[in-house]
Amino acid sequence: MALGDLGQNSRKRGLEGEIIASRKDTQLVLEKITHSLDERVNRLALICEAMWQLIKEQTELNEDDLKKRITKIELQEGRLEGKINRTVSRELPQICPECGARLSRKYNHCQFCGYKSQKKLSPFQSLK
Ligand SMILES: [Zn+2]
Repeated sequence: MALGDLGQNSRKRGLEGEIIASRKDTQLVLEKITHSLDERVNRLALICEAMWQLIKEQTELNEDDLKKRITKIELQEGRLEGKINRTVSRELPQICPECGARLSRKYNHCQFCGYKSQKKLSPFQSLK
């Protein structure tokens, strides 16, 4: 084997090492993101469960009322069966529920009558 080949081989091994190392880094980052998402989803599930228990205890609402409301919100937001269908809501013109004017996406209020969009931050935002 010529000396030139040896040099090339060690450069190749160096590159392979870097690729393996960067794959491990990517893997670690993905694991961290997945872990943090899992924690947030679990936290939200816990909050939902706690709220639903309180609501059931203190009102006469039941599972049927909850399911109906979920369906209503899904339809309002252009979602069906939990799948976000952004193309539907993007294509539909946004109409001001107060004055019927076409709403601009640039503003969160109607430029004709001042009606404020109902889009709010998630109510869970403060419960982290
Ligand atoms: Zn308006």
